[in-house]
Amino acid sequence: MNDCLFCKIAAGQIPSKTVYEDEQVYAFYDIDPQAPTHFLVIPKKHVSCLDECTEEDEALLGHMLLTAMKLAAEQGLENGYRIVINTGDDGGQTVKHLHMHVMGKRSMNWPPG
Ligand code: AMP
Ligand code: ZN
Repeated sequence: MNDCLFCKIAAGQIPSKTVYEDEQVYAFYDIDPQAPTHFLVIPKKHVSCLDECTEEDEALLGHMLLTAMKLAAEQGLENGYRIVINTGDDGGQTVKHLHMHVMGKRSMNWPPG
């Protein structure tokens, strides 16, 4: 039984605010936004983190980036945006399903810390 939160979100079993969807990826707004625009891009297949990716995932990773770029444009992030992939415990990854944060429209205290 797959108990992964983002697998369930991608499958529509847990509600989320959809930004975009195609055969390979799902994009949705972060439930706890760290910027005025903050959404996540995830692969529909379960990949626990970036370190689990292999050369077989090259096209998928490229598609995630290009999708993030197109969605950022659609969301009006013409002044720029930040893409973050937290990886593993030391990388601050809390949900163990690969996800790309796309954050924009935040100019103060950026980057945080
Ligand atoms: P990370 O710390 O990189 O693993 O990021 C996980 C992100 O998932 C955080 O920014 C959370 O706010 C977000 N998140 C957790 N649960 C949900 C949910 N049900 N819907 C949308 N975003 C979520
Ligand atoms: Zn998953």
